[in-house]
Amino acid sequence: MAVKKSRKTAVPAVEEWKQEQGWERLSRQEEAALEQYCQEYMAFLSRAKTERLAHDLMLSMAQKAGFRNLDETKSLKAGDKVYRSCYGKTLFLAVIGRDPLEQGLHLVGSHIDSPRLDVKPRPLFESDSLAYLDTRYYGGIKKYQWLTLPLALYGVVIRKDGTKVPVAIGDEPGDPVFMCTDLLPHLDRDQDGTPVGKAFNGEKLNLLIASRPADKADEDEAVKEKTRLRVLRLLQAKYGVTENDFASAELEIVPAGGARELGLDRSMIVGYGQDDRVCAYGAVRAILDAKGIPAQTRAAVVCDKEEIGSYGNTGMDSAFIENTVAELAARTSGGYSELTVRRALANSSMLSADVAALHDPMYADASSPTTMARLNCGIAVCKYTGGRGKGGGSDASAEFMAKVRGIFDAAGVAWQMTELGKVDGGGGGTIALYLARYGMNVVDCGVGLFCMHAPHEVAGKFDIYMGYRAYKAFYEAK
Ligand code: MN
Ligand code: MN
Repeated sequence: MAVKKSRKTAVPAVEEWKQEQGWERLSRQEEAALEQYCQEYMAFLSRAKTERLAHDLMLSMAQKAGFRNLDETKSLKAGDKVYRSCYGKTLFLAVIGRDPLEQGLHLVGSHIDSPRLDVKPRPLFESDSLAYLDTRYYGGIKKYQWLTLPLALYGVVIRKDGTKVPVAIGDEPGDPVFMCTDLLPHLDRDQDGTPVGKAFNGEKLNLLIASRPADKADEDEAVKEKTRLRVLRLLQAKYGVTENDFASAELEIVPAGGARELGLDRSMIVGYGQDDRVCAYGAVRAILDAKGIPAQTRAAVVCDKEEIGSYGNTGMDSAFIENTVAELAARTSGGYSELTVRRALANSSMLSADVAALHDPMYADASSPTTMARLNCGIAVCKYTGGRGKGGGSDASAEFMAKVRGIFDAAGVAWQMTELGKVDGGGGGTIALYLARYGMNVVDCGVGLFCMHAPHEVAGKFDIYMGYRAYKAFYEAK
């Protein structure tokens, strides 16, 4: 007698593309872990206002977890934890695996520089008794977003004798702040109909820093402009620096104030510099928290200069990563050879941990119709970057994509595919291509943001936590 088959067994289930918020996937315990993680992340973000500060905070996290300076070690064995710093702006962390180094690393790479205004090397000028610092913007910004905001000043001045003077003004209670002014709406008729790019130009981004002329008693024959003189006297008294010291300074102007929870439901975080400190923090936490001694060496790199094209001696287009892998090779069992280094790099696999643009329903026209990441639907995986016809980007292979989604699914990581907006809308790149050139497999994968590159960027807490979970799963995978 024939058994009547149920329709359920006769037709296999359809595996459908689903993109939904993942809150209800979390257990009570996981939700508590998410909250805890996000509070710690906000505390970090509020203090990591520059790449140097992010580097220093991460370095101290690593040192507390037992990481030692690679350059001060003689030999390394499986389970050893080391770091290597590049001029205090780029940081490499590694946990040595059991396999020979030439079998490659599990690498998560991200960047800790963020768009901002940089103080020029000869910045101080006076106009109508008001004193300003001239600036040059760093990275891609929408200039009008930086007007009428309370701004803080961070960085270092290196005196001619090499002594370093740290500067941090604007975030401590009682600190003054600074501002770039804007024209009042009553008088902006000339701007009507002017394209945004022309109405706001970079030369107008001057930071108002003082308005009161120097007292008579402080006068100096050499300086005719009295407010400028007051500023010079204050710099002399408070920091022991002169106007010429600006030539050897790195001073960054960033929004004043810390990261905050956003929304009545506290489901989002708003803060400066989430591109890409949100992924960098996730990568560092993941390598500190990943369990066990791995087969393949685990490594995290948080780098500088991504926002201006990864150039320079602290960017990913430098030899830092190659040199660091060579230093690892020299201290591990196989020893150093050029071939070992080349093989180690080529056999590596990497998550390029950089933020993604979220679909914003208020600007839906800019999105690709179906493939943009959505808020709190999980970490966003971006197979290719670049502009228009994928120009200037990196394109992960289907084979590597399969491996990565397998790892995420096995670990219960919520993930979604994404693209950077509609095809002809513009584009952008990450550090992925600078690592892919060694032959390693690389895919971009990071937290989605609203208002990327704005003074205050928005991310979803679920996505932030899934970023960390994804990087940790990648480290713990075979
Ligand atoms: Mn980025
Ligand atoms: Mn960016």
